[in-house]
Amino acid sequence: MAMSQALIRLEDVHRIYRLGETEVPALRGITLELHAGEFTALVGPSGSGKSTLLNLAGCIDEPDRGRVLVEGVDAATLADDARSRLRNRKIGFIFQSFNLVPVLDVYENVELPLLVHSHLSKVERRERVHRAIDDVGLHDYARHPPDKLSGGQRQRVAIARALVTQPILVLADEPTANLDSETARRIVDLMVELNQKRNVTFLFSTHDEKLMARVGRHVRIRDGRLDGAASGAAA
Ligand code: ADP
Repeated sequence: MAMSQALIRLEDVHRIYRLGETEVPALRGITLELHAGEFTALVGPSGSGKSTLLNLAGCIDEPDRGRVLVEGVDAATLADDARSRLRNRKIGFIFQSFNLVPVLDVYENVELPLLVHSHLSKVERRERVHRAIDDVGLHDYARHPPDKLSGGQRQRVAIARALVTQPILVLADEPTANLDSETARRIVDLMVELNQKRNVTFLFSTHDEKLMARVGRHVRIRDGRLDGAASGAAA
């Protein structure tokens, strides 16, 4: 067990969407490693392949060529149930449109992913949920339904929900796209703070260059390829 092993390694991954007769090459040979404790921004214009890359890193989708290694294990070699266990236990997701359950309050939304973690006692579960809600600054809002919250607060709930399972990696797909620029800045600040305070590893995508100043590592993507030396194999 090497200490320096990547949490996630994408190895020359290709992804081609097929729409009838048409082939859309979304990723064209990407090699990328994410290590524990890193905060990485994936920056690129709309349509450049950011969501596709996050879906592969999160084992939601599989590459047509190349490999996705999670802590050294090739995700393609896992059976479906092992892969979904890995996804549920090790990876947290944050989406552009928050994806909260409207009939559940803040507490219940954050608790949801823990209901499949049957090894936790009720007390442990409650502590985890409260801690996640406190961590995103929503202590006073636990019993509020999502529709009584602002966009920024809703995204904080989604962040708490992603963190509550204590994943090794949080993937955030354009988490600030539906927020005004000041709120977007605060959400990035919160993710940076959680990365530093709780050592959560983040990969978040954005097309907003203004948000980059706060982020340590930038990876640029265009037309399904990474910019610069790390762009991997030729087509
Ligand atoms: P981004 O997240 O940077 O906007 P995407 O990964 O969503 O980029 O898309 C990359 C390319 O793949 C785009 O050309 C997009 O139109 C195409 N694409 C994405 N998802 C699908 C899909 N399900 N079927 C067909 N084409 C897709």
